[in-house]
Amino acid sequence: MAILLGALMPDFTKLPVYGLHIGNWEVIKAPEPWMYHRGWPGSGPTHSLVAGIVAACLVYVVTRSKPWGAGILIGYWSHVLTDTADSVGTMMFFPFTTQHYSFGMWQYASQEGRYGDAAAYFSSLGWAWDVLWIVLVLVLARKALTAEYFHTSVEPADPFWGVLERRFHLSAHVRRAVFRAYMVYGAARVVSWFLWARFLNPDRGVETMDLSWTGPDWVQVPPRFQVASTWGGFAVVTIIGIVGTAATAAVAWHAMKRLPEQLPRDAHPVVGAERQ
Ligand SMILES: [Zn+2]
Repeated sequence: MAILLGALMPDFTKLPVYGLHIGNWEVIKAPEPWMYHRGWPGSGPTHSLVAGIVAACLVYVVTRSKPWGAGILIGYWSHVLTDTADSVGTMMFFPFTTQHYSFGMWQYASQEGRYGDAAAYFSSLGWAWDVLWIVLVLVLARKALTAEYFHTSVEPADPFWGVLERRFHLSAHVRRAVFRAYMVYGAARVVSWFLWARFLNPDRGVETMDLSWTGPDWVQVPPRFQVASTWGGFAVVTIIGIVGTAATAAVAWHAMKRLPEQLPRDAHPVVGAERQ
């Protein structure tokens, strides 16, 4: 559960990207969504490895749970790393460098609005990338969705499930549903947005399928970001970024080690022992 929450965190500031509209009233909307979302100045630093370290430390200080601290970090970093797959990428090593890291597998498209962005993503290699992960789970990691795996491996490792069980009296059946819910949601999202983009989207004649690298070609390309102009410069800022991020991680690790782990107040002495 902490991995899932961590993976959602970098986009907690995403609201102004598409904007909030009430009727005709535009409550909030970033004038340059790509700059606001991934750039600096902007909320781009949320998509950095250091931000993940900060989030994991804050969660550890509050929960004093190692699985939660580690889970937040893994989830958060996975988001920062996988967002490098689009054409804008992330300032992975902010604040040590504002260099953007991008593989440009598909075109960044939030400037097309919520529906244009969905049409672009689900008509590009982004869609193929999502399908690949669903297939990998179903083929290689199907065991992770089984009741046995949930009760013997997931529940004993994560205090969240004990809280649902003891404090909210949720049955094993409901807890398994909660565990699988986001996977089901993710798969349903990929299928339904794809069907919308390809068969219902009123602009589907223009917003066509394009599985080429950095596709689709109909997206308005955002301006280029801060990037090193030479490979030498790229190497220098990357090394500075790696060293700075590693030093931050080391400092955070030592600070957290001074705060002992605490088991939840109602934690069972032998985890999972009451399982029927
Ligand atoms: Zn993101």
